[in-house]
Amino acid sequence: MSKKSASILSFIVIPLFILSIIISRKALIYISGYYPECLFHKFTGLLCPACGNTRAVTAILKLRFVEAASYNITPLIAIIICTALYIELCMYAMGKRVIIIPRNNYFLGGVLAFMCIYYILRNVVLFI
Ligand SMILES: [Zn+2]
Repeated sequence: MSKKSASILSFIVIPLFILSIIISRKALIYISGYYPECLFHKFTGLLCPACGNTRAVTAILKLRFVEAASYNITPLIAIIICTALYIELCMYAMGKRVIIIPRNNYFLGGVLAFMCIYYILRNVVLFI
């Protein structure tokens, strides 16, 4: 990616996208109440990896991060990783090369293993 396109992306496109989310925050919270319930959870009683994501995003939009983590940590982890990547992109656009998120299989495998363990444990803990 060229520095010019990184600059456009980091200083115009992404801030406008975030601003549009902030502006439409109340509408997003409103429509989240109309999403269908999870069929996997309905028939099995277990939480699938996506269970709680809508409630977590709604809580994030209300700036209730602890409440969001209690529903599902996936959106919070995605926000943390995206923020780190955004910082890397901004630094690249300003001419500095910064690596916050490691680009190797150990990091990716660690994140995936953590998420898999989390998805399993949150079902086990709920049934104790
Ligand atoms: Zn589900």
